Amino acid sequence: MQTTSGLANLAAKVIARCRKLASISEDAGGARRTFLSPPMHDCHREVSSWMKALGMSVTVDAVGNLRGFYPGASPGAPRILMGSHLDTVPNAGAFDGILGVVLAVGLVESLNGLKLPFGIEVVGFSEEEGVRFGVPFIGSRALVGRVDEELLGRKDERGVSVRKAIQEFGLNPNEISKAVLRDDVLGYIEFHIEQGPVLENSGRPLGVVEAIVGQSRLEFNFSGQTNHAGTTPMNLRHDALAAAADWILAVENLAQRTPGIVATVGFVEAKPGATNVIAGETRATLDIRHASDRARTEALDELIRQAESAAARRGVTVKWRTLLAQHAVAMDAFLAEQIEHAIQKAGCEPHRMASGAGHDAMILAEQIPAAMIFLRTPGGISHDPSESVHLDDVAKALECGLHLLTQLAASQEFLGRTCRA
Ligand SMILES: [Zn+2]
Repeated sequence: MQTTSGLANLAAKVIARCRKLASISEDAGGARRTFLSPPMHDCHREVSSWMKALGMSVTVDAVGNLRGFYPGASPGAPRILMGSHLDTVPNAGAFDGILGVVLAVGLVESLNGLKLPFGIEVVGFSEEEGVRFGVPFIGSRALVGRVDEELLGRKDERGVSVRKAIQEFGLNPNEISKAVLRDDVLGYIEFHIEQGPVLENSGRPLGVVEAIVGQSRLEFNFSGQTNHAGTTPMNLRHDALAAAADWILAVENLAQRTPGIVATVGFVEAKPGATNVIAGETRATLDIRHASDRARTEALDELIRQAESAAARRGVTVKWRTLLAQHAVAMDAFLAEQIEHAIQKAGCEPHRMASGAGHDAMILAEQIPAAMIFLRTPGGISHDPSESVHLDDVAKALECGLHLLTQLAASQEFLGRTCRA
């Protein structure tokens, strides 16, 4: 095990590397590195050099995932996957995704050549954010065999398809099936910044993710009667915007009194949209999330009833349609428990929590046991250049990771798991 000062030095190195990768960008002004964009080549070159210096063998699969392999103690040993994504949003911070890849490389370094009963494959996913093609998780989808013809045919703003983008990057789209996980994978572990204020509020550096929340996105259309704002008495109006406003407050109210629910109306459009005209049509969106699918559906049903009654009170009608319905994904209970122990051994109080955002772990959980560890995010700020991490928290994350690897290496229950159940 590394000394505390050794881990502090390694943590500083991890942070410096994340900052270095943030300078490899499509934009001069800020960090932006989308799926298979030219700077991704430079990013791969940089991360590969760190991996190769540790004796890892490095490949890039056909969707552009960077994969570095550190072998296990014996030739036929199974492997675990660790990593996160290397793509970014526009005007990004330095740590979202990137930290999970760089930290995993740091963990391999901290082993000092020690071989475990399993190999470690560090994956830097090529695409998680969905910026270029409007579809997230292309990188991790390839590992579970979910990159199909429809996805390959999707086009970016310049009319370049996913297939063409793969070719332009120098890869062969006909080899995507080779990216699929083999049956020697015991599980996936992802370190990621929390991107929210929960850990900071609870004064804890590290959190164990129990589930990634399910989410529903809907669009509501309130239809009333457009009319003159001066001549129509208040009791004879059918104001679609007032009905929507009434309902929006009901959304906030229900979410505030239902534990675990987050609900947001992030878009409203009223028509015709003039100061002296009663709105006849109002469109509003709803985003609602919870770690339990049942709790989410029950809350959603209640909000639909509330929309109907807010409309009925004003002689307005309401229709809605579902834009997205995604179920919650549980993280592996055994790994979550092991992570909790590892956090305690690192001298921290673990915090069990749900992730309000989607992550690569959610996709891999379809096929292999997956787990996530969150790092406290100062100010809860992410997707912004001011995104940061505390040096001590990164050192604690490394220490937790080392304990976790040691525990798993000694666990017959883990090593005896049938791969890809
Ligand atoms: Zn991320």
